[in-house]
Amino acid sequence: MSEDSPASPQPVSAPTPDPGWRPSTVAVTAGRPEHRPDQPLNEPIVMASTYVAGGDLEYGRYGNPTWAAFEEALGALEGGRCLSFASGLAAVATVLDLVGGDAKVVAPRHAYNGTVLQLGDLEARGRLRTELVDVTDTDAVVKACEDAALVWLESPTNPALEIADIETIREAAHDAGAYVVVDNTFATPLLQKPLDLDVDLVVHSATKYLAGHSDVLMGAVATRDEELYAVLKGRRDLLGAVPGTLEAWLALRGLRTLHLRVERAQANAQELVRRLSAHPAVGEVRYPGFGGIVSIVLAQGAMAADLLTRKTRLWVHATSLGGVESTFERRRRWKSEPATIPDGLVRLSVGIEDVDDLWDDLRTALDDVV
Ligand SMILES: *Cc1c(COP(=O)(O)O)cnc(C)c1O
Repeated sequence: MSEDSPASPQPVSAPTPDPGWRPSTVAVTAGRPEHRPDQPLNEPIVMASTYVAGGDLEYGRYGNPTWAAFEEALGALEGGRCLSFASGLAAVATVLDLVGGDAKVVAPRHAYNGTVLQLGDLEARGRLRTELVDVTDTDAVVKACEDAALVWLESPTNPALEIADIETIREAAHDAGAYVVVDNTFATPLLQKPLDLDVDLVVHSATKYLAGHSDVLMGAVATRDEELYAVLKGRRDLLGAVPGTLEAWLALRGLRTLHLRVERAQANAQELVRRLSAHPAVGEVRYPGFGGIVSIVLAQGAMAADLLTRKTRLWVHATSLGGVESTFERRRRWKSEPATIPDGLVRLSVGIEDVDDLWDDLRTALDDVV
């Protein structure tokens, strides 16, 4: 050390985001280490299965600074406290573990397929009862809430892209003393903040838009209810569905550009919706008006849809969604997809490429399947 080195570095500003900052600023700012001289700007990947005793962490399953940085950033965006999980379905399982015995769970029949499969599995083993509803039929959902212990919402749904009346359903569910959960994977906190609508829990597959680069599996839950947070943290400690440290770091790195990616994907999607609607091979276009997911139903049905997914050069035939690259698939190629989803439905996850290149590739393939 030279003589004129500063003695001990002092914090020069707290990392806490200003409460007035807007979402784009929060996405860039939240979950950073304190600003001290020579402190990295980003929370490092902390590889640790155990910690020196006497602190808050103690063991790698109970906490990790890299998860905490991601949780702080997503929590700031959703407006609550956040817990990260090994995958979206690990988060779903931990939330469903809140209720048991004879408890009734109401869920959209077109919720994410894995969520519906989990509910079916739990029901088959006598762990809960499930009532699947058409989430667009608000009266029917409100009625189903009457004896519910937990009401699961997904809006928009995957891949039907239906919208739920979250506020009306939340009110009915709370009147019945039920928890209300919203899977916010499709909308992201930039397009919809369910905690502002007074729901109890928000669930994410961080695998999708939050991480955003098709290279990570991760999940998350956010809540404003300290008691629920503590219960879920306890369940995560016990069940062990914790994320990997590298995954948390990559997800946070992805989150830094969430606003740019969502803005571009949405603009591309809106333009593609206009063009797709006029194409004779397309029988129906489903788009809720926001976000980067579009579902089309091929006029000629399933075979035309399968053909389409083999004819593109830019669009990648792959499941999953929310990455920077445009992907698509015929959903009913999965045996577990409900028969109420049209056989010829292709879900498009619109990426951030140039929209004219996306359209040229898609149009050329569609021209071939008319
Ligand atoms: C993918 C997805 C999930 C499950 O998340 P994983 O990370 O794959 O476990 C849950 N909900 C929705 C809406 C999804 O798209």
